[in-house]
Amino acid sequence: MRLILLGAPGAGKGTVAKMLTAIDGSVQISTGDILRAAVKAGNELGQQAEAFMKAGDLVPDTLIMDIMKERLQADDCKAGFLLDGFPRTIPQAQALKTLLVDLEISLDAVVSLDVPKEVILDRLTTRRTCENPDCNAIYNIKSSPPKQEGICDKCGSKVVQRDDETEEAISKRLDVYNAKTAPLVEFYDQEGSLLRVNATSSEVVVAAIRNKLEI
Ligand code: AMP
Repeated sequence: MRLILLGAPGAGKGTVAKMLTAIDGSVQISTGDILRAAVKAGNELGQQAEAFMKAGDLVPDTLIMDIMKERLQADDCKAGFLLDGFPRTIPQAQALKTLLVDLEISLDAVVSLDVPKEVILDRLTTRRTCENPDCNAIYNIKSSPPKQEGICDKCGSKVVQRDDETEEAISKRLDVYNAKTAPLVEFYDQEGSLLRVNATSSEVVVAAIRNKLEI
């Protein structure tokens, strides 16, 4: 399947994407994961992105489009892809539209995960992430903690709170989301490809997507 997952930080895009990969071998493409891995590796991309990310700001569109142009042409995307955290701005959505036409790829749907703000805030402050860039498993210290505190069930690496999940950075990220990313819901609604889901749980979202795509 080929989907865009839209939603505020903490809406559950990553968890849903991971569940969907198991259905048909589509790959999860998270620009946040790609950027965090680059920061960890200390490469040029990481050095360019780090300050924006730490502050809860968006990384410039040109950097993101360079990443995505290359990523969408990788062999593993042939089985399908789930875009998680991209596009994040109207210019990214417009550039993606052109890129998909060039690559002769069509999307199955754009899914908006709608979650009330109080739930988002609670989820983000209690979310923990595996620091291994090849794993990136997501936990929640309240609802789904790792079996052994601070250790990933899947790969044994450390489970940590992300640098941009301090209260200050979270509040900035939500403001940035409302200003720059929320308008994408309207953009894709006008394109006629939008599925809105009341994302009370990741299971509910996956079921709505399966229903829409009849898979
Ligand atoms: P995420 O893991 O999706 O919440 O992304 C973490 C951070 O990476 C964001 O707060 C941004 O600084 C940056 N980022 C991820 N995806 C994008 C994107 N598509 N455009 C701009 N910045 C991004």
